[in-house]
Amino acid sequence: MSYLTKSRFKIALECETKLYYNDDPLYANQKIDDPFLESLAEGGYQVGELAKLYFPGGFQVDTRNHQEALSQTNSLLKNENVIIYEAAFNFKNLFIRADILIKEGDSIQLIEVKAKSFDGHDYRDFLNKSGKVVTGWRPYIFDVAFQKYVLSMAKPGFQINAYLMLADKNSKASVDGLNQCFPIVNKNGDKKVIIKENLSKADLGKEILTKINVDPIIDNILDGSDFVEKDEMSFEEWLDFLSARLKNKERIWTDIGKKCKACEFKCTETDNTNNLKSGYEECWTRRAGFSKEDFKKPLVLDVWDFRQKDRLISEGRYFMADITPDDISNEANTGEALSKDERKWLQIEKAVNDDKTPYLDIKGLAEEMKGWNYPLHFIDFETTALAIPFNKGLRPYEGVAFQFSHHQVEHDGSIKHKGQYLNLERGKFPSFNFIRALKAELEHDEGTIFRYHNHENTYLNIIYNQLKSADKKEVADKDELIRFIKDITHSGGKTEDSWIGKRDMVDLYQLVIKYFYNLKMGGSNSIKVVLPASLNASEYLQQKYKQPIYGNHDLIPSLNFEKMAWIQRDKEGHIINPYNLLPPLEKKYDDEELSSLFSDLEIKEGGAAMMAYARMQFTEMNEEETKRIQQALLRYCELDTFAMVLIWEYWANEVG
Ligand code: SF4
Repeated sequence: MSYLTKSRFKIALECETKLYYNDDPLYANQKIDDPFLESLAEGGYQVGELAKLYFPGGFQVDTRNHQEALSQTNSLLKNENVIIYEAAFNFKNLFIRADILIKEGDSIQLIEVKAKSFDGHDYRDFLNKSGKVVTGWRPYIFDVAFQKYVLSMAKPGFQINAYLMLADKNSKASVDGLNQCFPIVNKNGDKKVIIKENLSKADLGKEILTKINVDPIIDNILDGSDFVEKDEMSFEEWLDFLSARLKNKERIWTDIGKKCKACEFKCTETDNTNNLKSGYEECWTRRAGFSKEDFKKPLVLDVWDFRQKDRLISEGRYFMADITPDDISNEANTGEALSKDERKWLQIEKAVNDDKTPYLDIKGLAEEMKGWNYPLHFIDFETTALAIPFNKGLRPYEGVAFQFSHHQVEHDGSIKHKGQYLNLERGKFPSFNFIRALKAELEHDEGTIFRYHNHENTYLNIIYNQLKSADKKEVADKDELIRFIKDITHSGGKTEDSWIGKRDMVDLYQLVIKYFYNLKMGGSNSIKVVLPASLNASEYLQQKYKQPIYGNHDLIPSLNFEKMAWIQRDKEGHIINPYNLLPPLEKKYDDEELSSLFSDLEIKEGGAAMMAYARMQFTEMNEEETKRIQQALLRYCELDTFAMVLIWEYWANEVG
């Protein structure tokens, strides 16, 4: 029987049509179906175990078999008072497992634990000004609403209260080493969290998870006052509708829209070779009447930073060729560089005319370059935010910086991979040693420092705040480190004071937006896309880097590569994206797939490195695997900073 479970309900919340493709193996699916990696990505395993320790003495319903789980739960519920982990309930075709359930007489507390941070105080912090659940919290709140509905129908007569248990950003750990209390072990292929022996509630210190009652919101969803998803149906009718379609294996045809851009039911080339079906193509063929040829045309979906996608698609204007100047807001151009709207137009025009010539504003770049001082420094960080903190005084999901790479370019054009830092030591908060090492790299001159996008500035601001609250007895050099951070950054809004450093880093991403576009980038400005676009645009780079000069000590010294030729071509003669020349960090999945496990857009780019870090911290790993991951991380980060050098080198050569 195909139950409407929590995970299927979550899929239906994204798009009802997906329910149909999700259960059919004949459809391609780009989402990683790996609960272990999913949990590792956002700290789910450990938060779940910590939550149970806050409600000790419960019984675990371990079996995966639905009927056995239901029967074990029913037996346990015969107790007057009982705590159950993973209790199972069903009503009609609906089935749930509740993370933590506390029964006291005829009252039940239903607690859903989420590895997600919360910096509010009560349910009102989930609502917007009009009293509706804010978009980012909707999947979590609806998940609890679904569970409360099933439980109340399965067990009428109980007083049920529903809670979300979340990582509390207002709380700080009061003990050291908390995050090492929940290692993950591999038992006969089954990954499990084991709790450190003899761990008592007192060892956990002050609670860092918070339990928020969400009944008032759920009541509004169940009575229809905050259920706008389906105007014509109540929440209960919608669940009936979904489960009936699921049971009968009937597809629900929903409207297409901007959500389809990230749809997982698209085919890769390998999927096509394996004759898998594309749910995405079936949707667009049915709803927009697309022919095979239409899928090759530039679509509204692919325009960079464009807010009108849903409107245009609902009007039947699916192609970039359908976009008119009136559809773009035409923000005023305040200078020489491209405004965001001009850049959108540039993309649309180049795509519609299939114009493959790169756009490079040489004059604008030349002006920018006048303000740069040699030696030039290119830096990139790998960071993470672990659910459970390393040390006392730190908050859940506190930012942690564990790796950087640094390339230096001299005035004569010579390039060197100058330095790197990687700290994977288990249970050790790495950020202060990280910033010391970075200072040692950059403090010797006044050269311009380049970053790619906001990440480096954001994390230096985070370390600034951590240093501010650090004890001077433990971090004797905190004042020097703070001065260094203020020198090379600007304040980002989450610090007490505000500043713009005299060596404030230059954001190469912003320069790309203002001065460079190549059709090969499509609607993305990620460095993994801008790098191959630059290599394709530059004959100079192609000639220079087809030689194995990178990692040759006398030419371009590198700390992790030896005699590497970065220009390599496939059978058709196309330049291979240098990122594809590196082995992926996770053996089974490529780095892009791993990034899809992270919900936060800003950190997606570093998703693979974050996963590797979590593995090193919490799972068993032999020496060989440890070495492999360390080497892969070092190479990966080195390529990130070398990619920035290559983009600069392309521009510098064109400017002359
Ligand atoms: S293509 Fe769009 S409508 Fe179809 S399943 Fe994907 S997201 Fe839903």
